[in-house]
Amino acid sequence: MLPIFDPELIRRYDRNGPRYTSYPTAPQFHAGFDTQAYRTAALLSNSSAVPLSIYVHVPFCANPCFYCGCNRVITRNRDQAARYVKALSAEIGMHGRLFHHHRPVEQLHFGGGTPTFLTLDQITEIMRRLRTDFMLIDTPEREYGMEIDPRTVDRETIEGLAQLGFNRISLGVQDFDPHVQEAVNRIQSIEQTREVVEHARRSGIQQIGFDLIYGLPRQTPERFGNTVREVIDIRPTRIAVYGYAHLPEVFKAQRQIRRSELPTSAERLALLRLTVDQLTQAGYVYIGMDHFALPDDKLVHALAAGTLHRNFQGYSSHAQCDLIGMGVSAIGNVGDTYSQNLKDLGAYYTAVEHRQFAICKGLKLNADDRVRRDVIQQLMCNGRVEYSRIQANHCIDFPAYFASELTNLAPMQTDGLLRATDDSIEVSDKGRLLVRNIAMAFDAYMRPRPAGYSAAI
Ligand code: SF4
Repeated sequence: MLPIFDPELIRRYDRNGPRYTSYPTAPQFHAGFDTQAYRTAALLSNSSAVPLSIYVHVPFCANPCFYCGCNRVITRNRDQAARYVKALSAEIGMHGRLFHHHRPVEQLHFGGGTPTFLTLDQITEIMRRLRTDFMLIDTPEREYGMEIDPRTVDRETIEGLAQLGFNRISLGVQDFDPHVQEAVNRIQSIEQTREVVEHARRSGIQQIGFDLIYGLPRQTPERFGNTVREVIDIRPTRIAVYGYAHLPEVFKAQRQIRRSELPTSAERLALLRLTVDQLTQAGYVYIGMDHFALPDDKLVHALAAGTLHRNFQGYSSHAQCDLIGMGVSAIGNVGDTYSQNLKDLGAYYTAVEHRQFAICKGLKLNADDRVRRDVIQQLMCNGRVEYSRIQANHCIDFPAYFASELTNLAPMQTDGLLRATDDSIEVSDKGRLLVRNIAMAFDAYMRPRPAGYSAAI
């Protein structure tokens, strides 16, 4: 199934909206959800004993990429990392005391910032602490990944990561074109990237993800097409292609980007179309939103089996795990709750060094949130919602419960984005690139229109 690219429809439905890596989304988190609420949720979760997923956030970067919207600290001072590793270690211990030790950690992800800002010894120390407090597993089902900045790693580090149990890496590439790289302050050669991939494969890390961004300054279809061709030649197992969202009032670094150098909306559409065409013609399967994978990747199997899942890392082949977020600004999802750590590094240190959780906000889902989360997950992951399934899960009458939402979907049905019948909603191939617009119809927090989200395309 290929998404059908309809520029007129895409233009018409282009509006800001969430990426639905969670529902409700992060702007709904509030300070009323505190450490005590988190402890209660964590202890309760032990009775369901679903597997665990751990996210470790490392905020440091040596240089600012101008397009960046991540929570990161720019520094060349490597000594900063030593204090951070100590704080993480304390935080791991605190979480470890809440969760039953026999719950396997199926997923582990180090994100950032730049996790490879840490030395291999520091990463080894964090992994040692994680193995002490949690049951890390060594079976092939595990998904232990790290975001890698190819400019910051050497062969020894990659080999070391494989020995520590990492079986997946994702590399920020964005665009190989030197003009674009100069405009976004991220100079990274193709050779550097190829070398990291080769070291990883030789070390036994076969699961390689690349991140690309379209809509960056100075991008043209021809130049970006060359980048995509190079990427296809390297053959990563997964490729994510994100649309750059220019929000300089929210992200300070983006003020360095000249608006006049950004592609127009028509050019953005041409970039996206070209990328979708090139990747699918090269044998990549369109997973959803902005993700592509090779046919033998677990995501493709999960898509076919209807078991695809969406979480803070995007799409996942793992069913729902309880997610523990560690590190400054990290988000967790335990049971029916979300929680987020302090975003300020100083405040994070103060909490954790006093042996307190750094959680500053979150939320506990209510019954309506749970129904809507289920619907939005089904749309985002399977492109289909069966009323009977939602009714059985939540004891509601779907057409009555969502009467106004179904009415609001009517224009999208007329435009061919979906087909709503008496028992299901099915996203059409024309609607696949616009699936979050369909999901927004079920988002109770989307009225009135939000600011600060990225455009749908
Ligand atoms: S894009 Fe990645 S490497 Fe660049 S500043 Fe942001 S977090 Fe750091």
